[in-house]
Amino acid sequence: MSRIAIPAKMNSTMIRDLTSDQLPQVVMPACEVRPVLRGQTAIITGASSGIGKGIAIALCAAGANVVINYIGPDSDANAVVEGATHCGCATRGEAVAFKADVSDESQVHALFANTVDRFGTVDILVNNAGLQQDARIEDMTLAQWRRVIDVNLTGQFLCAREAVREFKRRGVRPQVSCAAGKIICLSSVHEVIPWAGHVNYAASKGGVMLMMKSIAQEVAPWRIRVNSICPGAIRTPINRTAWETPDAYNDLMKLIPYKRIGEPEDIARLAVWLSSDEADYITGASLFVDGGMTLYPGFETGG
Ligand code: NAD
Repeated sequence: MSRIAIPAKMNSTMIRDLTSDQLPQVVMPACEVRPVLRGQTAIITGASSGIGKGIAIALCAAGANVVINYIGPDSDANAVVEGATHCGCATRGEAVAFKADVSDESQVHALFANTVDRFGTVDILVNNAGLQQDARIEDMTLAQWRRVIDVNLTGQFLCAREAVREFKRRGVRPQVSCAAGKIICLSSVHEVIPWAGHVNYAASKGGVMLMMKSIAQEVAPWRIRVNSICPGAIRTPINRTAWETPDAYNDLMKLIPYKRIGEPEDIARLAVWLSSDEADYITGASLFVDGGMTLYPGFETGG
């Protein structure tokens, strides 16, 4: 079995945090990679960057065949295929890229049809694709509102619907997994924390929460598990302005009791575990991976 050290990205911003006061050093986890997803196939949407990229590589390392869905440049998606293929794990699955806009029904059909053609079925869907188009409420255009809802909420619905259809068609294969299928929705701490200036994004993630739980309730008898991962602040392009300068990073730390930014690998480890039979009795759950961001850090000194 492989053991991959999660790289400690100790850039200047994190080092600055390490030197402050009496806080202990940040130590990043080095975790064993186990082939808990061998024989399974996963679609990860929006996987050519950020969290989706981290999840795709981790699922592939854990033995799953991965379909890296993307909408941007082919070169970015091909780099993730390369990264997954050369992850250093002997038990890894295969990786392929497939371009599709998750907010377009016919392109989502094509994504699933192509995956079934290539790998026979789909066992895991990671609904990760998402975007922000921020504006004050009085300035937000209908186009900004609609695009964020179309991708972050409708896109997750379209993919979840195709996944459930395939999971029900195929049923449980006990030699592969206890469940007929697993869906993981990338939500956010903003499914519960209001976010001024981002009403379209917060509304989309609040919608993901009840969509996820309602689907989970409906499909549980078919042994289909549906859960959400709710990240706090993760070091990805979508929120670069929150961490790329030392001042921004230190401001961000006021919102994070654990006093480090999250890395895509923090999310990827949970995605592997949630997809595996080790999490078999978990469905309808929103799991927060946020260093305590939802612990009301403004009250840490007594309020
Ligand atoms: P990211 O911008 O790196 O990744 C999002 C990906 O989705 C991009 O690759 C983008 O091209 C893709 N995408 C956008 N529209 C698409 C479409 N119509 N069809 C297919 N793909 C599309 O950002 P990220 O931080 O990795 O975000 C991933 C998910 O995690 C998002 O759902 C985001 O809301 C959520 N999230 C991120 C954070 C964070 O701190 N980074 C926090 C909470 C939640």
